Amino acid sequence: TFLVRAMPLRTGDRVTSVVLRFSDITDARRLELVRRDFVANVSHELKTPVSALTLLAEAVQEAADDPEAVQRFASRMQREGSRLGRLVQELIELSRLQGAEALPGTTPVSVEHVLSEAVDRSRLLAEQTGITVLARPEPGLLVCGNEIQLTTAVGNLVDNAIAYSPERTRVGVTSRVTTDADGTEWVELAVTDQGIGIAEPELDRVFERFYRIDPARSRATGGTGLGLAIVKHIATNHGGGVSVWSVVGSGSTFTIRLPLAGRDAEAGDVAAEVA
Ligand code: ADP
Repeated sequence: TFLVRAMPLRTGDRVTSVVLRFSDITDARRLELVRRDFVANVSHELKTPVSALTLLAEAVQEAADDPEAVQRFASRMQREGSRLGRLVQELIELSRLQGAEALPGTTPVSVEHVLSEAVDRSRLLAEQTGITVLARPEPGLLVCGNEIQLTTAVGNLVDNAIAYSPERTRVGVTSRVTTDADGTEWVELAVTDQGIGIAEPELDRVFERFYRIDPARSRATGGTGLGLAIVKHIATNHGGGVSVWSVVGSGSTFTIRLPLAGRDAEAGDVAAEVA
């Protein structure tokens, strides 16, 4: 692995030449750089709400005889506090997903159940924004793994779809089976929104830890920048992956792909009867 550093050489205002420095970095060194970067990011992300809380507490003390201002500062403290709480919770989750204990196991999990749980969990957020979230799973599909993790992954995608969409739009959550050229069957769980969309150069980057396209918007919606990194870890740990397709201004579709573990014939029958 090579690390390339470009150093422009200038004469006055003009760049006259560029020196490229190639250094060979082994995997261990690269991992060390990633780790150091992560620790620096975590420190920064934790310091921001902590200093906001400290400043707000001072402001409350100073505004003691202005009840309206006290109320305003207190509700901001509440928001910062819950963001800090979510950040710590997601950091713990991410570090657990990177450890051996996160291996998802071999229990069959109903995809239908995962989708309905995830949609249920985001009901409150959806109601507040007047966004309709509709789940249309193919009945009876089974994957292997950890139901809690899979529900978290789909839930994170639904939360994002709501957070990055205008009011009164729709979010669709679907599942279907696709087959590779070699016959391998996959379950694709897709979350589609009619939101702000993501520009081409950002499409890969959104899965990086702490990467946000618009940090101010992410902060306003209570985002931590870790949601999609968690989704990616869960999908990879389950032998699959996650991808995104998007058109700026029209919307995005995030798709989690997992190996199909089988079909629950009974579930299929029940759904067919209901239909
Ligand atoms: P956050 O907590 O900021 O939402 P995520 O890791 O979940 O962090 O997402 C990273 C970034 O990707 C977000 O800050 C946002 O800019 C972008 N993003 C995620 N989901 C969507 C979406 N459905 N539509 C548009 N942008 C999105």
